[in-house]
Amino acid sequence: MAPVGILRAVTRTNHDTLRLDFPVHLGAPITEAVASPTAFCVLASSSSGNCSALIHGEGLLRRVTLIDCGLSPRRTRLLLARMGLDFSAIDDILVTHLDGDHFYSGWIKALPRHTWLHIHARHLRRAAHAGVDMSRVTAFEDPFTLRCGVHVRPTVLSHDEWGVVAFRLDVRGVSLGYATDLGRASASLIKAMQGVDVLAIESNYCRRMQVESDRPEQLKERIMGGFGHLSNEECAAAVRKIQPRDHVVLLHLSRQCNSPETAAAHHAGAGYRLTVADAEWPMAPIVLG
Ligand SMILES: [Zn+2]
Repeated sequence: MAPVGILRAVTRTNHDTLRLDFPVHLGAPITEAVASPTAFCVLASSSSGNCSALIHGEGLLRRVTLIDCGLSPRRTRLLLARMGLDFSAIDDILVTHLDGDHFYSGWIKALPRHTWLHIHARHLRRAAHAGVDMSRVTAFEDPFTLRCGVHVRPTVLSHDEWGVVAFRLDVRGVSLGYATDLGRASASLIKAMQGVDVLAIESNYCRRMQVESDRPEQLKERIMGGFGHLSNEECAAAVRKIQPRDHVVLLHLSRQCNSPETAAAHHAGAGYRLTVADAEWPMAPIVLG
């Protein structure tokens, strides 16, 4: 397969594509992607907030499933509006875990009336403690299917005290893997994500930049100690084992200890397209199927 690299990162000040030393291709124009039956878009991803959207259907019938809601409802509303999507189109929110950059507390009061929060059983007590209206929550441990027809297979992984959930989503014969805030890329993760069409996975930090940073040693240990985040090297190794068919999206880059170019360099020459999610702005949506 011809080596293909794709990097479509939108910066705060302009919409230029970042420059790499390997071939770069642009994703589908936003209007084309969003008009398609199902598209995946990371609205933003960093330790300041993570939110992605699966967009289903066409025209006025388009509905949205969010994966994490770590941006404020106001910002989420604005970013969805940029794609012509209404806030009230959010039917479901899949929650990987309840850290503030994945579950912004403002959602507790701002949840659209018909929207369901899907939270793993191990996180329920924490959700109730945070003040989440539990009548709006569906708890899961096993695979389940959303009203929009997306089949969801969760895998629990190590991350801090409570763990995190990675999702494999299957819709109309196309699969999307979503895995972030991973202590390590365990065998169960590799197995669950094997051969997905699109893989969105954390590439949090450059090991050298992390080690040389002036961060407290305790913080470095938390991040690198197997219960924190995946490094660029660990991410690339996991991707090689998972063997995604078409597209890889790198999530949750550290602003202090990483850069899009550094993270992307680990995937140079790979046989899949590559997108680095931006900390502030949505990427060009990926059409699924
Ligand atoms: Zn996070």
